[in-house]
Amino acid sequence: MSSEAMVGASSPLSKDELIAFIKSIILNENQQEMDPFYVLDLGALNPLFQTWTQNLPMVQPFYAVKCNPNPDFLRQMAALGAGFDCASRAEIESVLSLGVSPDRIIFASTCKPESHIKYAAKVGVNLATFDSIYELEKIKKLHPNCSLLIRIKAPQTSNSTKFGALPDEVKPLLEASKAANLQVIGVSFHIGSRSGINLNALEDAMASARTIFETAVQLGMPEMHVLNIGGGFKSGPNFTDEAASAVKVALQKYFPSQDGLTIMAEPGRFFAREPFTLVTNVIGKRVRGGIKEYWINDGIAGSMKFLQYDNVICTHLLADNGSSDNENNPTSKGVKTYDSSVFGPTCDATDMVLEGFQLPDMEVGDWLVFHNLGAYSSCLGSDFNGFKTSAIPTFLAHLDNKNSS
Ligand SMILES: *Cc1c(COP(=O)(O)O)cnc(C)c1O
Repeated sequence: MSSEAMVGASSPLSKDELIAFIKSIILNENQQEMDPFYVLDLGALNPLFQTWTQNLPMVQPFYAVKCNPNPDFLRQMAALGAGFDCASRAEIESVLSLGVSPDRIIFASTCKPESHIKYAAKVGVNLATFDSIYELEKIKKLHPNCSLLIRIKAPQTSNSTKFGALPDEVKPLLEASKAANLQVIGVSFHIGSRSGINLNALEDAMASARTIFETAVQLGMPEMHVLNIGGGFKSGPNFTDEAASAVKVALQKYFPSQDGLTIMAEPGRFFAREPFTLVTNVIGKRVRGGIKEYWINDGIAGSMKFLQYDNVICTHLLADNGSSDNENNPTSKGVKTYDSSVFGPTCDATDMVLEGFQLPDMEVGDWLVFHNLGAYSSCLGSDFNGFKTSAIPTFLAHLDNKNSS
């Protein structure tokens, strides 16, 4: 589908418009096989972007590409003015191919393959993170002009020790970078987890960053001027009422003078979750006691590995998708529901999508729609059992009669 036309799409489709668009695909597009598909509503990105800039105007978002690397989505993020957090050569390539300038990219993986560092040097991606001496050595050898952020492990974050320098490792790392003539221009942390940001950890990380800015001065290094607060933000009241103000309060406390300070963040889920809807087909049914069980053609081994973290909303479309009695009630509102389970299509016994969920009585051939499934969904799926997650198509949502200015 052509995407250029949609870059101007200004407002999100309403739920009814979205359902109407989904129906039009089911009816008109080549869906005889009843394979799953995604709908991407680029208009849904604009209010998200506005919410970000209104609440955190001083923090530049560098979208974490890994969260959903859909090219149309990336293009719209670029058009809105976002930067990008890339963690590999391929991610950098896909962002550059949209015409994004390399200075809008941070190479935010702390341990990079040498060939990817060489590539970053070649194309002019000149900002990267590190948390070890060995990474400094590789960068010294392959990309010595790269500006660096020292990634720290914030106290109170997950038990994983994979990322970030520990407090007593920071000074030796700064000394080593100074000796190697590498420019460490700031501090980076990422305290997000799948269930959101821990605001106490945010405060601690901000305090640690402040200390490190001071350590750099004590070591006679040029003053640091970049603070990268990572990702982990969730859209909705959680952001507007809590996370954004916690960020502002902590910034005010630890970086009261923000003159000359660049503050960046790496939100992924914040932007990618809402614009994507997954449409699956009911491929099987079994009734056991009072419970109705359904099989659909995508699941935990596919797009829905992290379904439980994203408040995904589920709606149901009849197989005849509204052509007769369902016409006025596509989402089955008010229809009697039953205790239901929904399974993914693979032979993995843990491929269970929903349990104890209320759904209307569905038949094989009906459609089950998952809204807000854009974050860490298709990109995490496998081709297990031959159900190819990577082959699921994405249709750009539009309504012919919808004004896009
Ligand atoms: C995954 C990741 C992000 C994005 O996290 P979200 O929870 O999607 O916002 C940002 N920064 C780093 C370093 C990451 O690994």
